[in-house]
Amino acid sequence: MRPLKKEALRYLGYGSNAASDSVNAMIDECERELSALPTVRYIYRIFDGVSVSDDVVTLGGVEFKSRGLSEHLSGCERAAVLCATLGSAADMQRLRLERFDMSRAVVMDAVQSAYIEKVCDDACAEILSRVQSEGLYLTSRFSPGYGDMALSYQSVILRMMDAQKRIGLTCSDSFMLTPQKSVTAIAGITADADRCGGDVKCARCPAREMCRFARA
Ligand code: SF4
Repeated sequence: MRPLKKEALRYLGYGSNAASDSVNAMIDECERELSALPTVRYIYRIFDGVSVSDDVVTLGGVEFKSRGLSEHLSGCERAAVLCATLGSAADMQRLRLERFDMSRAVVMDAVQSAYIEKVCDDACAEILSRVQSEGLYLTSRFSPGYGDMALSYQSVILRMMDAQKRIGLTCSDSFMLTPQKSVTAIAGITADADRCGGDVKCARCPAREMCRFARA
């Protein structure tokens, strides 16, 4: 089963139970509609000179106060900051369905949630392919709202990446992202191969053929 479909089924609450043929067909249709959207975009930037202390990470001249992020980036002198969005067309697609076909809207919501993770995975695979030539790896992603990292860092990341201008990504006063199906995240760049292969699934990794740490 495609990873995106598996993830969408998980969001819909199908654990070990099989979904009906009609739900499976609806997921496939929603994925097809979504892949035709012109507004899916991501941007990233690799920062050198990252400093990590007990509970403060300094990156790109900005201080992030979070013990969780510090632990996540421990030993990393470089890090990648990522912003990704399915765009406003995805929100409109979902809102339109909510008016006319609620069950399809629920499926679309799950497929969109899985799809934005796939977009982030694609971005991380691209970053990884850039740093691999230097024998480096990428840790999994860490986002505002994880652990003790305040959600307010959404706006800090958006500003440092100029995300509103570049991909139309903003956040509200309560730091919710708009468009809704969007992600901001930070991933460490590390020489430690054991920390690789988290979000960048080995199965889709551009370095898989040559990597002795590739997981099944
Ligand atoms: S194959 Fe897996 S462990 Fe190796 S570089 Fe790719 S993601 Fe990392």
